[in-house]
Amino acid sequence: MYKCFSLAAVAALALATAAAAQGPPAPDPALVDDLVAANHILSSEGVVDGFGHVSARHDKDPRYFLLARSMAPGLVTKSDILVFDLDGNAVAADGAALYLERFIHSEIYKAHPEVKAVVHSHSPSVIPFGVTAVPLRPIYHMSSFLGTGVPIFEIRGAGGDATDMLVRNATLGAALAKDLGHSSVILMRGHGDVVVGDTVKQVVFRAIYTEVNARLEAEALRLGDGKVTFLNDQEAAASGATNAPLVGRAWDLWKAKAK
Ligand SMILES: [Zn+2]
Repeated sequence: MYKCFSLAAVAALALATAAAAQGPPAPDPALVDDLVAANHILSSEGVVDGFGHVSARHDKDPRYFLLARSMAPGLVTKSDILVFDLDGNAVAADGAALYLERFIHSEIYKAHPEVKAVVHSHSPSVIPFGVTAVPLRPIYHMSSFLGTGVPIFEIRGAGGDATDMLVRNATLGAALAKDLGHSSVILMRGHGDVVVGDTVKQVVFRAIYTEVNARLEAEALRLGDGKVTFLNDQEAAASGATNAPLVGRAWDLWKAKAK
């Protein structure tokens, strides 16, 4: 009897090991195409430059996500897209260099099952709002996803006073993911921001309009001598619902421009 149980246990372990060795199934090619396009669009629209990255949760297994190897987003091709687990390990890196800050993505996907796509950038107009007491809020309807304002990640909280400002491990990534809460955007003091969304197209839309909002808000604050009327809660919610089905229209234009 004992021997039978042992054999069954060994067989089960062998099956589990074989399944783990196989790794995740191949992602939908359309998702990979969108992710490549997202890299090019964010570069073309000035949200990322040589730095920054965009990822998508795996469509067939939520325990994985897709992210390029370490390189400038504007140069990413299909063959540069790697699959990662939620600890930030590449399934088959084949010696490729990986983004130091991939833990931003892995820890957000781990902590927020609803998130399907993530952008991290050093979006230039956003930086001042991470280092001053001026909150980033929706100045117009295109950025209504900012809601009533966005949190700021202070890396000194989890990383102490002497980090290089990069979210380069799981501990820092988890702290950032916690501070994100249910917001669409979180600013990173002295660094940049992170934007999350339900789809690759939506997260690109949000990342671009976060940058535009920051630029317009800074201008309005100057013009209005600090007095600016923002969208209120209800306006932001109603406008967000109107914009949701229209994301594809902007995507098509940005994709054509990025080619
Ligand atoms: Zn960064």
